[in-house]
Amino acid sequence: MGNSKYLDALSPAQRLELNKKLWSIQNHTCFICGEAIDLDIQKTNVDHIKPLTNGGKDDPVNFAITHELCNKSKQDSDLEIAKRLHRLQKIIEDASHRRETPSLKHVLLAHDGSQFDFSYKIEGDTLVYSFDELGSPAIKRTEIFTDPLSKERTAFLTVPLAYLFHDEIINPRGINGTISLLIKEFYKPNPQLHLSLARIDHSGGGGKIRIFDGQHKAVAQIMLGVKEILVRLFIDPDLDRLIETNTIAGSKLKQIAFDKAIVRQLHDTLYAERLRKYQKDHLLAEDDFSFSEQALVEHFKGERGNVKLYIINSQKNAVTHAPENRLQSYINFDGRGTTWPLSYSTFEKTFLSTFINPKTILATPINYKADEGLNPRILERDQAVRLCNILAEELLIGRYDEQTGTRRLENTIAAGNGDNIPDSHLTAYRLFKEEIMYNWVKYLRRVIVNYFANTGVLNDEDNLLQQKLPDQVWENLRNFTVNLRDLPVWRDRSMSATIFGGKNNSNFWDVIFRTAAAPDGTPVLAAPLNLMEMIKKP
Ligand SMILES: [Zn+2]
Repeated sequence: MGNSKYLDALSPAQRLELNKKLWSIQNHTCFICGEAIDLDIQKTNVDHIKPLTNGGKDDPVNFAITHELCNKSKQDSDLEIAKRLHRLQKIIEDASHRRETPSLKHVLLAHDGSQFDFSYKIEGDTLVYSFDELGSPAIKRTEIFTDPLSKERTAFLTVPLAYLFHDEIINPRGINGTISLLIKEFYKPNPQLHLSLARIDHSGGGGKIRIFDGQHKAVAQIMLGVKEILVRLFIDPDLDRLIETNTIAGSKLKQIAFDKAIVRQLHDTLYAERLRKYQKDHLLAEDDFSFSEQALVEHFKGERGNVKLYIINSQKNAVTHAPENRLQSYINFDGRGTTWPLSYSTFEKTFLSTFINPKTILATPINYKADEGLNPRILERDQAVRLCNILAEELLIGRYDEQTGTRRLENTIAAGNGDNIPDSHLTAYRLFKEEIMYNWVKYLRRVIVNYFANTGVLNDEDNLLQQKLPDQVWENLRNFTVNLRDLPVWRDRSMSATIFGGKNNSNFWDVIFRTAAAPDGTPVLAAPLNLMEMIKKP
């Protein structure tokens, strides 16, 4: 910990005494992680709970004992906040290990939430309800308001966690890094300005109160010990319209800080719903996919553009979130993080836009050749994932160090303090910068196109991954990736202040790849990139 005049004044014996006293006050557990501390065999820290810089006292009442490990990795200097962030981190990790997107759902389950159906009735403009499962016989009443335009009816009420559920249909996104900021805000305590929105969901038989908007606010409150959440509750809403409104709020109105990957997932749901609607309208069974994407687009005449978008986004989503896609754990989905090298936005603008053609709407049945493993969408997805895995295996796994992350790497090196940044890490970081990746992904594409040009076989250049690629192409792609990685420029530290210093655009790197020099003539590569050389076995 920082400077404590109180601790500095203690003799070693007094210091030991204080350790033991705190340890016994805390029931022999660590203040941050809550796990046992063994004073004989574990290193510990004594730290201020509220930092001195925030007005905490330099006094034993403001001291806590922690594992040294926990103290080193704490996520906030205020230990009360660090403790809660640690708990949340656990919940997030548990969900991730089960390959689920961590969300309000997991936070509720970890806090005895999501147990009971909501029992209520409507008397005129009054909502009558009770939370009797929790042992309170009180009958509660609250006013129902009707929106003059949409006619949607809502009421405002505080709902105990045991009666709250996460809405995975309207809001499939998980929680992201902004949550720690919210926890700090509410801890201060600054008030929350917008309420969480919820609806009553009857799809499972009973009525469940599901939060579909404001899950971060709900999570932050729960992590701070709140046992019931004030919500605006939509009573029997038009679900389609809510989904639509929430999508538009994200992609067009920007009311909610939706990231692009989430809009994809949301579109995925919308695609699934259109498929089902088409089947119903044509009296087809739920597993009947004998119609084409084009037929689907035609069927929903009024929203042709949207349905096309749903189809393409659903495919992008399937590639990004395929469980076997090893690249996805290196993607930073919230846009601002500095742990992972590849932002989703970069991945989308480079890789996905290159290999999933946004203009392609297939005329073949959706289940075309699915039995033979030659379905174009399935091939496209599987081969895109296979290509992602080559990138992950050759550029990232065992090479990129998440502890080092991406923060101020070039500055650190330029200042002469980058000696402990490994070459492999620096290489990975540089290759996944958007302006650089944009260019080498174009070369990856050309590796495939050239193979077919040289063998004289015709290939659909607009949809390269919809046909099965021969083993030789995969070898070429891997060789290219390795040769690209091994170019000296990616580990050249003398270029931190210059070539890698400012933000350069993709054209800058296009010139370098084609001419070996920057637009101002500064030599960067030994020679222009030569595709034939780059696909040779290294
Ligand atoms: Zn601990």
